[in-house]
Amino acid sequence: MRIDRKRLEESMEALGRIGATARGGLNRVALTDDDRRGRDLLVSWMREAGLTVTVDQMGNIFGQRAGEDGLPPVMMGSHADSVPTGGKYDGQLGVLCALETIRTLNDGKVRTRHPVAMAIFTNEEGARFQPAMIGSGVMAGKIALEDAYNARDRDGVRLGDELERIGYLGPEPCIPRPLRAYLELHIEQGPVLEEQRLPVGVVEGIVAIAWSRVTLTGVQDHAGPTPMRIRHDALVAAADIVSGVREIAKKIGGDLVTTVGNLTVHPNIVNAIPGKVTLSIDMRDPRGETLVTARQRLDAVVKDACTREGVRYELEHYWQVPSTPFAPDVVAAIERAAVESGARHRHILSGAGHDAQYMAAIGPAGMIFVPSRDGRSHCEEEFTPMDDIERGATTLFLAAVDLAGRV
Ligand SMILES: [Zn+2]
Repeated sequence: MRIDRKRLEESMEALGRIGATARGGLNRVALTDDDRRGRDLLVSWMREAGLTVTVDQMGNIFGQRAGEDGLPPVMMGSHADSVPTGGKYDGQLGVLCALETIRTLNDGKVRTRHPVAMAIFTNEEGARFQPAMIGSGVMAGKIALEDAYNARDRDGVRLGDELERIGYLGPEPCIPRPLRAYLELHIEQGPVLEEQRLPVGVVEGIVAIAWSRVTLTGVQDHAGPTPMRIRHDALVAAADIVSGVREIAKKIGGDLVTTVGNLTVHPNIVNAIPGKVTLSIDMRDPRGETLVTARQRLDAVVKDACTREGVRYELEHYWQVPSTPFAPDVVAAIERAAVESGARHRHILSGAGHDAQYMAAIGPAGMIFVPSRDGRSHCEEEFTPMDDIERGATTLFLAAVDLAGRV
């Protein structure tokens, strides 16, 4: 029994047409009209596949194929929203490989002990409404439903109102439900699998993430008459911090990555010495202990930079998530499936957050990665070769059957 590559490819093309950009990418941001059209198409396919479809209070869509009564399902899922000018693989691929798994079970008239289900989570990207992964976050009890409803986009539109407008404010409670396992196939979004020419990554977990913010207060003054020796330039201190943040990763080494991605300069005009700067720091590592060390180094980097320039600072370590190790039995099932499918593979960690992170708080979870060309994602150039997709989808299918148990 094998998945139908052509059918999968046709589904990718059909869903990818909704919100398609001129340059081959995808613009299907959460809870827009195109998101609704994409959801409608998926729901029609799920019904055609004989699934019982339900929608919860967060607009998360579930489709279940029956198993033996009373047993929790093996759920496969991902998201169908994209970033603006994103690609046709991030999220959508995981949803369609889940659907292909169910269609293949139907083709073979396979009966499983545990039901096999698929899920489509709302607003994973966080491009329109923050925080990201809000649909699975509410389901896992990590985000309050009211807070999610009250999230507003840039135009002040409420998430709750948009769910209602597009017809996906469902009646099912958005709460944890019993799971045999949760499986998510996703593009790697990094270069490792492609560099090593491996079609499949068996994901062991998601890295720990720490976010900090520095506000620097110097002395705003005229760029002309103010001599260099009396300046307290907040942007000069910020520049030192940007280089210092990179040095932290270089010195600690290993898998640690550190990024300054956001900088706000005040007054941000050509002829004034910047009086105020805020900047963001994102640090990630598989081990939470490394981030504790990195944060101590960051404290020193900020202090030293500000002392040199004579500016005041406030440093806030305001958000952190611990690393998420996936369930050993699910990881083992994925590994067996990769071996059985003949896919060359390696164990890998995810440097990005995914719905699987929240689902791991509900039940045993695991992920399968497929390669990203040039390691790129969240862009129109996003691409994964069909040969690799076939290997990944087959691995997902075999892992789902293994965990659900054939009757
Ligand atoms: Zn994604």
